Amino acid sequence: MTRARPRVAVVGAGPSGLYTASALAASDTAVDVDVLDRLPAPYGLVRYGVAPDHMKMKSVIRVLARPFGPGDVRFLGGVEVGTGPGRVPLPVLRAHYTAVVHASGCALDRRLGIPGEALQNSLGSGAMVGWYCGHPDHGTPPRLDVSGVAVVGAGNVALDVARVLARTVDELVSTDVPFTVLDALRSSAVRDVHVLIRRGPQQVKFTPVELRQLGDLADAEVVVHDDGLLEAGISDDVTDRRERANMTALTEWACSRPVPAARRIHLRFLRSPVRILGESHVTGIVVERNVLTPDGRVRGTGEEETLDVGLVVRAVGYTAEPIPGLPFDDATGTVPNVAGRVIGADGAPVAGEYVTGWIRRGPTGVIGTNKHDAVEVAASVLADLATLPPPARPEPDDLTRVLAERGVRPVDWTAWLRLDAEEIRLGQARGAERIKVAELREMLAAVHGAAAAVDLGR
Ligand code: NAP
Repeated sequence: MTRARPRVAVVGAGPSGLYTASALAASDTAVDVDVLDRLPAPYGLVRYGVAPDHMKMKSVIRVLARPFGPGDVRFLGGVEVGTGPGRVPLPVLRAHYTAVVHASGCALDRRLGIPGEALQNSLGSGAMVGWYCGHPDHGTPPRLDVSGVAVVGAGNVALDVARVLARTVDELVSTDVPFTVLDALRSSAVRDVHVLIRRGPQQVKFTPVELRQLGDLADAEVVVHDDGLLEAGISDDVTDRRERANMTALTEWACSRPVPAARRIHLRFLRSPVRILGESHVTGIVVERNVLTPDGRVRGTGEEETLDVGLVVRAVGYTAEPIPGLPFDDATGTVPNVAGRVIGADGAPVAGEYVTGWIRRGPTGVIGTNKHDAVEVAASVLADLATLPPPARPEPDDLTRVLAERGVRPVDWTAWLRLDAEEIRLGQARGAERIKVAELREMLAAVHGAAAAVDLGR
C-alpha cells in the first residue's frame, strides 16, 4: 500500500513560519504544506513589527511570498489555533496533519514590574509598534498630546519607537502608516523623547546602522546624557565591532554642539525607571541613577530624578504566550525543543510537534536569523515524516469543513492579494508604496467582499 503524501501545518505566517514553509516545499520529499495565521494578512513581524520608515527592510516579503505559487503551499489566513470561541484547538488541527510547526512568535510585551505601569498612556512596545504598523489588535492608541515621552530599553525596538515619534510628517507620508496614524502624528505635541538605558554605552543592544539613523532625522537632535562615561574615549579593550561602532556614534553626538530642532531624542544612560507617576494617566516617570560595575552590570545609587513625560513606552523585549497542549519554559518564554523538535516533560520528543523562530529561541536576532532556524527545523520535520503516523483526516476539504463548523472562513492567497491590491491602491494618492488597512472589518471586507465581513460578525 502506498503512503499518502504527508501534510504539514505551519502555524504563523511571519518570517520564521514562511522561511520554514519555503524550506519544506523546496525539499525533494513530496509534502503538502499549509500556512495558517490568525490574521487575514501574512508576513507577521515584517508587516507588523518592522518600522514604517524601514520600507527597504520590508522588501523581503517578495522572498517570503514565493512558496505561495499555484499548487504549492496553501495560505489559510484568519484561522487561529487555540482554545475559545472561533479558534481551532491544537488536537483538532492535529487530526488533519502529519506534523505541525509552531511559528507563533512572542506576542507579549515584557513588563517592568514597577508601580504605575498600568496607567493610561503607559504602553508596551508591542502595542505602540502595533499601532503605527496598523495591526488590527493594537488596542488603545497612544495619546500624543504630551510634550515628553519616555522609551525604556536599549534595543532596536526602542530606537524604532523613538525615531517614529521624532520624525516629521513629511518623512512619514510616503510610508505605509494608516491614515489615522499619520493624522495623530501630524498633530503630535511631542518635543522630547527620553530613551532610558539602564547600563552604559558599551552595553546597548542597538545595531550601529539603526543607532546612526537617529542622527539623520529631518528636524530632531540627539542629546547624549552619559554621566561622563564617554569622556575617556573608547578603550582598546573594546574589540567587538558593533560595540565600537555604537560608541563612536555616541561619542560624536556627546561632543557635538546643540543644533536647534523641533524635537530632541535624549539618550539617558545609567537610568532605571522606578515608578510611573499619575492618578489615571501618566504624568511623569521617576528614574534612579545607576553606576556601572566592572563586569558591565549596574548598581542603583538611590539617587532619583523625575522626568516630565505623559507617555511611557517600555521596549524591554517580548515573551511568548504558552501554546495550550505544549510544554512551556516560563524562565525563557520558549517551548523546550531540540533542533525544533518539541521536548515533553519526560525528556522525549512530542511526536509531530515542532517550533521555529522566536517561540523556539526567544525574541532575538534579525529577520534573516529565522532563515537559519527554518532550514534546521525543516530538516528535522523532513527526517521524521516517514516515522510519523498519517493524519486521521488527510483530505484538505475536511479541514475546510471543520473550520466552517466553527464559523471560520479561511482567507486564501488569492483573497489576501485582494487586500494587498487595495492597500497599494490606497497608497497611490499619498505617494506611498501602500497604506495599511488596520481595521479587521475593513481587512475582511477587502478579502471577502463587504457582505462577508458583516456575516462573520467581526
Ligand atoms: P532587545 O534587543 O533584547 O533589547 C531589550 C532592551 O531592554 C535591552 O537594552 C535591555 O537592557 C532592556 N531592558 C530589559 N529589561 C529592562 C528593565 N527592567 N529596565 C530597563 N531596561 C530593560 O529587544 P528588542 O529591542 O525588543 O528587540 C528584539 C529583537 O528584534 C532584537 O534582536 C532586535 O535586534 C530585533 N529588531 C531588529 C530591528 C532592526 O534590525 N532594525 C528592529 C527591531 C527589532 P539590558 O541589556 O541591560 O538587559
